[in-house]
Amino acid sequence: MKVLVINCGSSSLKYQVLDMTSETLLAKGLVERIGLDGSVLKHEKTNVEDKFIQETAMADHKEAIANVMAALVDPVYGVVKSMDEIGAVGHRVVHAGEKYAASVIIDDAVIAALEECVELAPLHNPPNLLGIAACRELMPKTPMVAVFDTAFHQTMPPESYIYAIPYEYYTKYGIRRYGFHGTSHKYVAERAAYMLGVNIEDLKIITCHLGNGASVSAIKRGKCIDTSMGFTPLAGLAMGTRSGDIDPAIISFIADKDGINADEVLNILNKKSGMLGVSGISSDFRDIAEAIGDGDQRAALALQVFAHSVRFYIGAYIAEMNGVDAIVFTAGVGENDINTRDIICNELGNLGIKLDLVKNKVRGKEAVISRDDSKVAILLIPTNEELVIARDTYELTK
Ligand code: AMP
Repeated sequence: MKVLVINCGSSSLKYQVLDMTSETLLAKGLVERIGLDGSVLKHEKTNVEDKFIQETAMADHKEAIANVMAALVDPVYGVVKSMDEIGAVGHRVVHAGEKYAASVIIDDAVIAALEECVELAPLHNPPNLLGIAACRELMPKTPMVAVFDTAFHQTMPPESYIYAIPYEYYTKYGIRRYGFHGTSHKYVAERAAYMLGVNIEDLKIITCHLGNGASVSAIKRGKCIDTSMGFTPLAGLAMGTRSGDIDPAIISFIADKDGINADEVLNILNKKSGMLGVSGISSDFRDIAEAIGDGDQRAALALQVFAHSVRFYIGAYIAEMNGVDAIVFTAGVGENDINTRDIICNELGNLGIKLDLVKNKVRGKEAVISRDDSKVAILLIPTNEELVIARDTYELTK
């Protein structure tokens, strides 16, 4: 069975088609600038060098998906003769609140439930819902599945997800820790167990998803028991442009000093903080590394702040799980940034965490990078959220 995976942002759309009998990627692509000037579709068929690039006005997600469908049946770049060959569509959906702890087949009731979650993820859920609506209209007979970023974290115990604020805010408004990147944390934890040849039920794993957005999760016996992101993806680690955890009193302090409102301060914490804010240079770790090479002190400080925040959560989760068997690095920084992995793991030897500096010289492929005498296995595992979405979609609809 062939599965189409769709990940809709506000003005972009990423997709993949996978053959689930062999779990092989047949094609992937990206539509950018939906609803803006200069809409473009970039489509790549596996094992075909040329990319198919289409620059046509695309006013909304429905037009974008119609163009994706045309590329998928194209005689040269396509991977199916007709869209009837697509057995199911899997949609990435960011926020399911407390409504779903696992992926679900989409029907009208699911759409209504996800619409109720829009206030929890006002930037992310609306484009996800637009993508679902467009696909349902264009492929009315094809089953659709929603796979949620929050679902994997629904196993957290209350002491991990309840904030120490008046309890009514939880019951009235749903204010609690939800956590994000769940699909990625789940995938790399399962891969870690596979790579170590140990049943996941017998493992305590800390997964570090370090990309532009970044989060750490504590996974005990295959279940998430804590994660660093919170009510929103602003919490936890210092990130590319996000502050991560700060003293909440800073918000009104900056608002008063600068004569701006809370939303404007939150915008600064989301878009102008993290690596960008501390370094004053860039949110991209490659630029930070270059600036450090040129002797820039604030870039060096930004990297130390980031590494400190990752180490901080690793330490916290070792305490929460009463130990750890494996630490996994994944996502853009975790998979590629040798120096940052080194700085994070440096001086954790007394906790039994010993990085092998030679084995660590690897990028973007599965590897064990701990020393042979390290009690804790350190693993590099490229994430594959699309594969998890395709698998769940296949399992629910086959
Ligand atoms: P993601 O959000 O997972 O796509 O990660 C994107 C981020 O990964 C970029 O903003 C960079 O900071 C980082 N990144 C990607 N490639 C490298 C690399 N080769 N070295 C260091 N950082 C990298």
